[in-house]
Amino acid sequence: MADDPIPEYVPLYQPPEARSEPALWFAFRKSEILVVGGAERPDLPCCMGLDEHGLAPQRSQYLGLYGGRHCYAAAIDESLPLPAGWAALGLRDLFGLVETTLATLSGRAYQILEWDRNHQFCSRCGTRTQLRNDERSRSCPACKYTTYPPVTPAIMILVTHGRRLLLARKTAFPPGRYSALAGFVEPGEMLEDTVIRETREEVGVEIGNIRYFGSQPWPFPHSLMVAFTADYAGGEIRPDGVEIEEARWFELEELPKLPPSISISRRLIETVAGRLARGEPASG
Ligand SMILES: [Zn+2]
Repeated sequence: MADDPIPEYVPLYQPPEARSEPALWFAFRKSEILVVGGAERPDLPCCMGLDEHGLAPQRSQYLGLYGGRHCYAAAIDESLPLPAGWAALGLRDLFGLVETTLATLSGRAYQILEWDRNHQFCSRCGTRTQLRNDERSRSCPACKYTTYPPVTPAIMILVTHGRRLLLARKTAFPPGRYSALAGFVEPGEMLEDTVIRETREEVGVEIGNIRYFGSQPWPFPHSLMVAFTADYAGGEIRPDGVEIEEARWFELEELPKLPPSISISRRLIETVAGRLARGEPASG
């Protein structure tokens, strides 16, 4: 199952006019997030402002409330030295070191910052855009064109046949690693269409009984991965040879090296393998 949604987070757009208590800062130096308390047990900085630590933000975005605390995303000039006890971590490294809800919110903060950075000027007429405070958007005062933080849907599909799982190796994977099939949704497609098309394109197999499994936002750069299970319905496995270098059936007892545990692919594969081992249907 997917992680629970972030219960303590309330998205808001209008920052408080005056603030007397410290705020939680999601501060990024390029794609790395700044943490305090050392890289092994990191925490996010909680302070009135980053400028009090010599880290005046280049840009910032108000995010809303997390556990009742005001939150901001901030872009920090990479040339600024970090105060003693601060460190910069990759977003992926944050997962597993802090609570999943906080790591997920960090991914959201990064995506919002990147969107804000990429849309300072109107893509239609070049006028400087203005941030709106009634929704998460930037509008062009000249032509009224409005942009919103992008979310790119992608699907993941785990095909099963009896007690076997269809796993594939992308050419870019580290040696020995296999995963479920995945691909981006094209304009005009339903998710079910994408699942069928990607399975056909990548391995030449037909499927049926497509069932929703769960979803995961993936901030590299702004995907929403939607995972499904499906039953094998015909065809011989034929890896496309471009994106997929190898694909085959795996018995439950001989699963290969899988993606890291922060990814929904790992959870999908392990959950389904567990269901099949207990004699349950793959879709739960
Ligand atoms: Zn414009």
